[in-house]
Amino acid sequence: MTTAVYPGSFDPVTLGHVDIIRRAAKMFDRVIVAVGINMEKKPWFTAEERGELLRSATKDIQNVEVVEFEGLLVDFAKSVDATVILKGLRAVSDFEYEFQMALTNSKLAPEIETVFLTTSAVNMYLSSSIVKQVGILGGDISPFVPECVHDEIKSRIKQRSRLK
Ligand code: ADP
Repeated sequence: MTTAVYPGSFDPVTLGHVDIIRRAAKMFDRVIVAVGINMEKKPWFTAEERGELLRSATKDIQNVEVVEFEGLLVDFAKSVDATVILKGLRAVSDFEYEFQMALTNSKLAPEIETVFLTTSAVNMYLSSSIVKQVGILGGDISPFVPECVHDEIKSRIKQRSRLK
């Protein structure tokens, strides 16, 4: 049985993330979406909120679990018996950082392979930051996020813009 861990901040989940998760669920026996903390980013949504949104967005996919985690990714991967770290690649700009992370992780845990899935062309431009930017300026975010979590994401962004 092959378990893949798909890590990220998912702040919030987008259609780009769900596309990667759906495709990965066909390739691996178990996909664990690992909602992490990126020290360089200050999240808008709490880890619990990000996890809940992902759970709703992936509830129809049997072999997917969503788990919030802290600490080193390779330690988390080992703790769930994962042998694959899965990443999505949107553009060449993603590559340099992801390449560095993949080599670092393989040094820390040579038994774990990093696997990259290229974005689907329709999602190439899509990121959580775009969703937040469009949302805070009052734009329609429905083309970018899963329908079942649209209202929740929209109201959370609205709430956030009132705090600013
Ligand atoms: P980060 O981990 O840099 O904070 P995210 O949490 O948004 O970024 O992304 C989690 C993972 O999903 C990363 O591997 C990222 O490259 C990938 N990803 C994000 N958006 C897309 C997209 N539109 N298409 C394909 N992969 C994506």
